[in-house]
Amino acid sequence: MRFRKINMTLIGIMVVIAIIILTSTLISLYQVALDQFRANLTRTALSQARLLESVAVFDQKHSRDFPKGSMAATLSQIDAAFGALERVGKTGEFLLAQRQGDDIKFLLISPGGKKLIPGPVAFKSALAEPMRRALNGNGGVMTGPDYNGITVLAAYQPVKALKSGIVVKIHLAEIRAPFLKIGSILILFSGLLVTFGSALFLRVNNPVIRRIRESKQRFQRAVAGTNDGIWEWNVQTGADYFSPRWAEILGYDTRDLEPVVETFANIVHPDDRKLVWDRVNANLERDEPFDIEYRMRKENGEYIWIHCKGSTSRDDDGQPTFMAGSITDITERKLNQDKLRIAKEEAEKANLAKSEFLASMSHELRTPLNAILGFGQMLQIDPAEKLSPAQNGYVSNILTGGNRLLKLINEILDLSQIEAEQTALCIEDVNAEEAIENCITQILPLARARKIKVINRIVAGSAILIRTDRMRLEQIILNLLSNGVKYNNDNGTITVDYWKTKEEFLHISITDTGIGLAGGNHPDIFNMFQRFGSNSTIAKEGSGIGLAICKLLAEQMGGRIDYDSEQGKGSTFWVEFPLESNDNIFIWSDDLRIGVDAIDKDHQILLSLTNKISSGFCTETSLNNLITDLVEYTQYHLEREEMIMEVCGYPRLKKHRKCHQKLIDKINDLARDWHENKDPDIRHRFGYFLRDWLVTHIKAEDAKIAQYTNGKTQEIRQALKSLEKN
Ligand code: ADP
Repeated sequence: MRFRKINMTLIGIMVVIAIIILTSTLISLYQVALDQFRANLTRTALSQARLLESVAVFDQKHSRDFPKGSMAATLSQIDAAFGALERVGKTGEFLLAQRQGDDIKFLLISPGGKKLIPGPVAFKSALAEPMRRALNGNGGVMTGPDYNGITVLAAYQPVKALKSGIVVKIHLAEIRAPFLKIGSILILFSGLLVTFGSALFLRVNNPVIRRIRESKQRFQRAVAGTNDGIWEWNVQTGADYFSPRWAEILGYDTRDLEPVVETFANIVHPDDRKLVWDRVNANLERDEPFDIEYRMRKENGEYIWIHCKGSTSRDDDGQPTFMAGSITDITERKLNQDKLRIAKEEAEKANLAKSEFLASMSHELRTPLNAILGFGQMLQIDPAEKLSPAQNGYVSNILTGGNRLLKLINEILDLSQIEAEQTALCIEDVNAEEAIENCITQILPLARARKIKVINRIVAGSAILIRTDRMRLEQIILNLLSNGVKYNNDNGTITVDYWKTKEEFLHISITDTGIGLAGGNHPDIFNMFQRFGSNSTIAKEGSGIGLAICKLLAEQMGGRIDYDSEQGKGSTFWVEFPLESNDNIFIWSDDLRIGVDAIDKDHQILLSLTNKISSGFCTETSLNNLITDLVEYTQYHLEREEMIMEVCGYPRLKKHRKCHQKLIDKINDLARDWHENKDPDIRHRFGYFLRDWLVTHIKAEDAKIAQYTNGKTQEIRQALKSLEKN
């Protein structure tokens, strides 16, 4: 509607301009023509007046004997001469008149002859104004009524010798006529031209206008349909546009907001202003992505978290003209993240306390236990004081119980060390067939004691290489095999097999024909001290620690463990380890340790999360959670690392911070890409980027931090604690 109005106004303006140009042109031409007529008439009147003067003077001298006097002689000559006068236009007339009493009496008219001489006109009437002026002794040119009251352009001159005056005149209408004619033709013509031009203009313009209107409507629909607030900043003038939704997010009405950049700047949280402007400038100067999270003050004074994105448009010289983008209220997500983070930190703290307690308890228990075992053995072997057979039996019982207790304590210590990520892994390419064969050999005596058959289905000589720690691999396999014996029936079987998976892992399975587990799968089975349906006649021994150790080790080595079981029929426990050819998995090893415990632990957690993402094991939901965890943990870790650097006076902190910012940006980009597109390939991109970045960064940069941390353990601990409180 507005565009139609604008169109019509434009056409109207064109018509008015055309009319003004035409009219002013015509008026100018008319003025020129009028001036020419004025000059012509004046010249004719002057020359005729002079001629009459001289004829009259001549006749006064030489024609006194003319029948009616010299005046009559002059008139008759002039009458003859008037007849020969060239007529000015169609209405042009030459008049000679005299004042007789109160009248103007016309003596001659040309053309027309005597018959057409007008009758006398009262001297005081409004008629014959030019002649009146001539008879009053004036000469000149004017526009005014003639003897008939018709408006004429007339030149007048007195003829003193004849006591009369002459007028040369033409109807003004005759002078105007051609201009009126040309004017109407031109108006008609330009009317046609304007109509044609307007039609052409509308034809050319309408589709453009329609497209503009459509795109405007599309934009309005998009803006109305999105939950985001839209903003646009004119970089050169400082003017700002805030969409109604933008204002609504912050509890304002657009009318309350002055559309200038200062409005925005003033409601950014004071602590976040530097970040915001640094990133704005980076986008304006270097086109670095503008995609940040910060706090803004609502109309009621409350602060909310905002996710803000934007980009810059530039002129032909590359100078920024506009910056525009959107804001999203992410307060709820942020609060949830904080809650999760606090809960996670508390769980981690509790777990750490538990591990520390178990580790110290194990140490404390081992010392007296070793004394008990040592003295027990001495009692048995001391030749000086031989024991009676009964005493010997009691001491043997003490030693058996003591050894079992020592085994349990050692397992607990092992578990607490693995949990605290303090296990030193020696990662190499291991021949899986050989390692498994070795474990089977070790378990055979136990199996034979209960007449359990061990079937090895692994094709001899298949020599599949896996990237892992050989000793820990054997520890896991041995644990599963010994459970296979322990929870089997006498005369049962254990079958060992392996194959490669499409995700490039070696799947190793250990199946027994034992008691199985009731009620499907128990994920808790891999937690410490979990024992299920143990039949005391079959499985008297056991602590519920073995599988917990297996799971922790398998995951630290980039693998996983699980089982299937059916009560009364048996169970299959299986583990998967990355093949030597699997590039998606990177296993933490001691050469990545930089010597600062908190940082090393974080790096291990980050690598383990990265491995889980890129392993290909996850469902979409678990990938969602893993990616969210990874983004959060990366942020948390970088904050911790920067805090440690600050406390220790690390000189390259500023440069390091920039590196961290790039990492966060990239991870946020990848995470956003995943949440928006759910492209399964994201796990590879995540994996490659993080592994490459983490490992390169750890070796090149983080490794330099340790030397500054010497003697600062207390300060570091305190600083990290303060960070947790925030
Ligand atoms: P432990 O065997 O010392 O109790 P584990 O951690 O190795 O500890 O096993 C935990 C529990 O899992 C066992 O107590 C048992 O209930 C169950 N379990 C483990 N392996 C098997 C198996 N092969 N068949 C049946 N149950 C098993």
